[in-house]
Amino acid sequence: MNGPVPVDILRQHLIDPEICIRCNTCEETCPIDAITHDGTNYVVKAEVCNGCMACVPPCPTGAIDNWRNVFKANAYSLDEQFSWDELPTQNPTVSAPAAAESASQDAVSEMPDAAVVASDLVRGSTVPPWSAARPYVNLYTHKAPTTATVVGNYRLTDEATESDIHHLVLDFGAMPFPVLEGQSIGILPPGESAEGRAHHARQYSIASPRDGERPGYNNVSLTVKRVTHDHGGKATLGVCSNYLCDLKKGDVVTVIGPFGDTFLMPNHPNSHLLMICTGTGSAPMRAMTEYRRRRRLKGATGKLMLFFGARTQAELPYFGPLMNLPKDFIDTNLAFSRTPGKPKRYVQDAMRERAADVAPLLADGNTHVYVCGLKGMEDGVLQALAEIAEAHGLGWDALWARLKREGRLHLETY
Ligand SMILES: Cc1cc2nc3c(=O)[nH]c(=O)nc-3n(C[C@H](O)[C@H](O)[C@H](O)COP(=O)(O)OP(=O)(O)OC[C@H]3O[C@@H](n4cnc5c(N)ncnc54)[C@H](O)[C@@H]3O)c2cc1C
Ligand code: SF4
Ligand code: SF4
Repeated sequence: MNGPVPVDILRQHLIDPEICIRCNTCEETCPIDAITHDGTNYVVKAEVCNGCMACVPPCPTGAIDNWRNVFKANAYSLDEQFSWDELPTQNPTVSAPAAAESASQDAVSEMPDAAVVASDLVRGSTVPPWSAARPYVNLYTHKAPTTATVVGNYRLTDEATESDIHHLVLDFGAMPFPVLEGQSIGILPPGESAEGRAHHARQYSIASPRDGERPGYNNVSLTVKRVTHDHGGKATLGVCSNYLCDLKKGDVVTVIGPFGDTFLMPNHPNSHLLMICTGTGSAPMRAMTEYRRRRRLKGATGKLMLFFGARTQAELPYFGPLMNLPKDFIDTNLAFSRTPGKPKRYVQDAMRERAADVAPLLADGNTHVYVCGLKGMEDGVLQALAEIAEAHGLGWDALWARLKREGRLHLETY
């Protein structure tokens, strides 16, 4: 008698195009280049993905965590995935037979523990600080967004510089939009792409603390850089950043989110914040600093140390207010890479100069490290942290693993 015909079933990894905000985090995280994108969707190559889960914790929306059982021969192709506006439903005839399941290449059963693998492959923490407040995420989605009114929009950088960075305040009125420092929101710019599809959302870090840009108001602020050149230096006008920078008071924007459940600040008052940022990466640092400043008299004793880089002082957002913060509240270190007549100085150079003060912070289990800004800064900052740790007998590899495990090293570069 013939036995059951072996059926090759694949648990195919898919990305939900309705939730994905096209932030590229998963593509950068995947260690074996299984993720790719076109102008429309982020997709997973079925024949490459091994289900290691490294991309799942860093995804700010959860769009990445979708799986469908399919007959291996019928796995969704890249072209199919690129064409989707929404995920296909699970075909019940594929997932049902137990025999088929066990004969399958079932990514879940063969999958190593996600958190363990991810912590090895991901450079920063995939868990929040133990004392962080619980964030709300995905309250508003592409299908059900909300709106906010622009109540402020002004340029932060000197008019004479090429770098046009804006401080934007959005008010949600009576619509609940609870956020925490370190979270981001998605903006849906009006209009369509060249392919005739609605523009996808762009992500922006929240620059204000949880109780509002103006305390007690239901508003958030953003720090938005106008994109006028692509990464290769070719002149181009970024869709969403130009839309945002040109908004006037009273304009209404469409918003989704909030996003992010790990890049959050600790809430225990003796925790220290070591913040390293460039350009608009200052947004979450401003939010955290302002939250600590407002609570300063309520017993917060932890230290704040900031390393902030820009090309020149005139291009540094929030320079004035930052300089006005008391020295005994925050230890501010600026680094400028293009000051005429002066050698290039990057945040990692400033960190090395202050190694004697950075090292004790790294050694303290209450210290939480935040890195945000240009993608290119990540290697240099991690290298500087490693050198400082090693030079002070802290053993970087073990410390790095501990920082990640304990939700104390958060990286957000774009
Ligand atoms: C987690 C996260 C947080 C972010 N927070 C902020 C923030 O606080 N403030 C902020 O201004 N941006 C932030 N961004 C970037 C933001 O989401 C957009 O990518 C950026 O505003 C460009 O969008 P755009 O629609 O203007 O450009 P697009 O129309 O998407 O792109 C136009 C062209 O410019 C290139 N490009 C995109 N971004 C840049 C850039 N920054 N520099 C040079 N070329 C670029 C693109 O590759 C493309 O070729 C964040 C991104 C992520 C993932
Ligand atoms: S939202 Fe998630 S799935 Fe979409 S690009 Fe970002 S990390 Fe990838
Ligand atoms: S599960 Fe692993 S292999 Fe698959 S796309 Fe995510 S990071 Fe890449």
